[in-house]
This record gives sequence, structure tokens and C-alpha cells, in this order.
Amino acid sequence: MRPDLGLGEGYHSPQVEVAVRLNTNESPIPPPQAWVRAVQDQVGRIAWHRYPDRGAWALRKAVAGLHGVAPEQVWCANGSNEVLQTLLLAYGGPGRTAAVWEPTYALHRHIAELTGTTVLEGSRGPDLGLDRDGVLRMIEAGRPTVTFLCSPNNPTGEAADRDLVIDVIAAAPGLVVVDEAYGQFAPWSAADLVAEDVPLVVTRTYSKTWSLAGLRLGYCLAPAQVVAGMERASLPYHLDSFTQVAGLLALDYVADMERRVAQIVGQRGRLAAALRHLPVDLWRSDANFVLFRPQGRSGDEVWSGLLDRSVLVRNCGSWPGLVGCLRVTVGTPEENDAFLAALTEVLA
Ligand SMILES: *Cc1c(COP(=O)(O)O)cnc(C)c1O
Repeated sequence: MRPDLGLGEGYHSPQVEVAVRLNTNESPIPPPQAWVRAVQDQVGRIAWHRYPDRGAWALRKAVAGLHGVAPEQVWCANGSNEVLQTLLLAYGGPGRTAAVWEPTYALHRHIAELTGTTVLEGSRGPDLGLDRDGVLRMIEAGRPTVTFLCSPNNPTGEAADRDLVIDVIAAAPGLVVVDEAYGQFAPWSAADLVAEDVPLVVTRTYSKTWSLAGLRLGYCLAPAQVVAGMERASLPYHLDSFTQVAGLLALDYVADMERRVAQIVGQRGRLAAALRHLPVDLWRSDANFVLFRPQGRSGDEVWSGLLDRSVLVRNCGSWPGLVGCLRVTVGTPEENDAFLAALTEVLA
């Protein structure tokens, strides 16, 4: 094995059999049955003996239509993680740097390391938000090739300020990637800032808001030249026919997706309000999860206490700056009730 990869375990979220699974920010609500039936119907028409459409043009045109950009400004892959990996294969690599502000999505750093890109690490402020002056100073001093922002940020929850994103785009010497895996839950999106003369890449995924984590489909919006660079760095026929068809059909159900998002945002408000009555520190969330820290109790102990009650949340205690913190995904009303009841008991 490459010695620079070390012997770490890589990126894992432990999966255990539990009644209430609120640890990986999936949607608690499945996609519409009408979509399942439409997929079943279309699967029979796929020319399985042929390679897929290499450019995935039908899907890209539909995604482009959704966002009001050109199809040449869209690139689709097996989850937004593959989008990020391909981006760093094309634009990162030895001698180049990627800037991240911890704590943030661990895969940004992980994929940078896998591709031999040097990680330039900053930290978020004491409130876990991005500190504008600190961010701009680091960009000025470090001149990163790729600058990662995660908005809303996983695992802290809050969306970056629009003005900050605009300032970062103006200051960064290379590409700025805004990871919007939770974009539809947030009050604003950087998607409308994407343009041919702006070095911005916005990534999105079907895994969270579209209730399709099992499909493995994500995409980015970027200048056509950047998309062309990613095409050169990707494997031929990386996106199979099934994924292309299923992803295209999902876009017929935008209103259903928006309804699910609204339901989850409603539940997020209820969860946050209930947590405010418990002895925990709490951070604002613009996503489908909430970060909290039990007061006067270790995070590990509370995590285990929840697990004993068959509720699985994410233990973020080992992430930089998050000692004692837990992250809970917003679930169905019943799952959220079970979580709140278990937490109340554990904290009593
Ligand atoms: C969940 C998540 C993703 C999604 O990755 P996929 O490969 O599309 O499933 C990307 N970025 C962030 C910040 C996430 O939390």
C-alpha cells in the first residue's frame, strides 16, 4: 500500500442493527411509489447489451433544466463523492493544495489525501461558524488550488453566509467547491452563482433530499471547461444505464421531494425546540440533522445510553473541535419521539 495513505481505517459510519437509525442523514421517507413503478417500466426498455450513454446527456439536460444552466455545465457521477473525487483527480494531485475548515465533511480531506493533494487545514470559529477574516487570510497565505466550503456544513449544520461565499470566490486563486449535499434544506443556494466566468463548482446529491441514497447519484454545476476537465479524469462509462434512467425519472417528482423537505424541516424545528428544554448545547441547523453536546456528561456515555435504547446517532467526539458532540438525523415524527424519549431518559 502507498505509505502516504497510512493505516487508518478510512471513512466509516458504524452500522448496527437498531430500531431507530439516525446516524447517516438519509431521508426517513422513501421515494414515491409512482417513481418505483416508472423505473420498473423503463428498466425493461434499457438496451442492456450496449454500453450506457457515456455523456449521460438525457440526465444532464434534465438536471440543467432544473437549475437553469447549460447541459455542458452539469456533470453526473456515482454519488457526489465520486464528483469530488473526479474533481480532485483533474484539478488536485501532487504539488497542489485543497483548503478545508474543520470540523467539516471528512471526505473532503480524505479524497484530497487519496489523490495526493496537500490539505491546507483551517478551523471554524469558536461557535463552529466560518470566520470570514480567518478564511480570507488563509486563502491569501496558502493560495489553495481547490477551496472547499460545505453549505450547510456537515456535521455542524449551518449554511455559510452568501456574502462570505461571494468573497471567497473573489479571493480564491483556484476553484471553489460548495458542497450542497443538504442544499434544499437551506435558505439559500450557491447554484445561482454558477457561471462560465466564475471558478465555482456546486455539488448536489440524490442521497439526502431525493431519498435515493441507495441509487448512488450526484452531480455538480460548474463552468463547461471544468466539466470537460472532469470528463477527462473519469473512467469511460462510469455512470450505468440504470442510474441514468432512475435519476432522470426522479426529476418528474420535484414536488414530492419538496414536500418531503418541508416535512423534515418542520420536524427539525420540533426536534430543536425539544432539545432546548434538555441540558445540551445546541447548534442552529439548516440541514436534516442537528448537532448537540450533552452538558456535564460525556458524549460517549450518552451515545451508548441511546444505543442501549436502540437509537443510533452519530458520535462526532473524535472530529476536530467536537469533543462530546453528537449528531442526530431528523427522522419521522415517531423516530424523533423515540430519540427524544431515549435522550431524556439517558440525561435524567
Ligand atoms: C452525505 C453527504 C454527501 C453525499 O455523498 P453521496 O456520495 O452523494 O452519497 C456529500 N457531501 C456531504 C457534505 C454529505 O454530508
